[in-house]
Amino acid sequence: MEDFNGQVAIVTGAASGIGLAIAHKLLAKGARVILFDLNSAGLHAEFDSYGERAVPVAIDVSDRALVEQTVKDMAGRFVKIDILVNCAGITGQTNIVSHEVDSADLHKVFEINFISSFYTSRAVLPHMIDKGYGRILHIASIAGKEGNAGMLAYSASKAAVICMAKVQGKEYAERGITVNALAPAVIRTPLVDNMPEQQVKYMTDKIPMKRCGTLEEAANLAAYIVSPYNSFSTGFTFDLSGGRATY
Ligand code: NAD
Repeated sequence: MEDFNGQVAIVTGAASGIGLAIAHKLLAKGARVILFDLNSAGLHAEFDSYGERAVPVAIDVSDRALVEQTVKDMAGRFVKIDILVNCAGITGQTNIVSHEVDSADLHKVFEINFISSFYTSRAVLPHMIDKGYGRILHIASIAGKEGNAGMLAYSASKAAVICMAKVQGKEYAERGITVNALAPAVIRTPLVDNMPEQQVKYMTDKIPMKRCGTLEEAANLAAYIVSPYNSFSTGFTFDLSGGRATY
């Protein structure tokens, strides 16, 4: 349905999982996509076949100065940035109760899941304001709505992401820019494969459809959210939870 011909997108965490699926979807629908990830080899293996429409950038999104400079360079090269999708994320320690949480781990999870999404959105927003158009999507999590036991750092960082979408949605609502979040339950990706099975079972048992979501389902919904069709929803957290969250 959506057509992204002529549009320029940045997708973070594009070398794996949900970011990878979203980047492929946007490229398949005609966008030029700038791909941010720590994993340079993974980006090249996945995206070199698209030629100049795909630009792999090896970058740590928690490096504020580097994010600002890279976005500036890319906006200069492509003249505009229409879309930002923040997918880079980590779980940190899981299956661990709050009084045992390591505060360094909690800081790191916030740095990558929340603060980095702030850095990238802060860097793209002036370019979107200039053009009077933009679509920002922060990938949050059902954990940020409900709070998963054993996942304090992750859940709280995703709650912060959801709140950032609410704040930014309101702040730019009159400038042609929508800012939304997406809250998946469990999608089978390396992020989930690396979690203790007990923690994954805790999360999947709560899904009324009794299955994980697919990458295709995540990419389809994300593509709609960042398309021009999504023009009257902002500050909203879209659900992707097989019925777990009905709000
Ligand atoms: P993933 O581990 O498959 O991919 C994450 C990617 O982010 C990796 O390629 C990794 O290299 C990159 N990354 C991590 N830290 C980075 C950094 N500092 N700078 C640049 N790149 C970095 O994970 P995924 O399952 O695809 O998750 C993507 C997003 O979706 C995450 O924000 C995650 O929290 C969220 N999410 C996932 C699920 C799920 O079930 N998979 C559910 C809810 C939310």
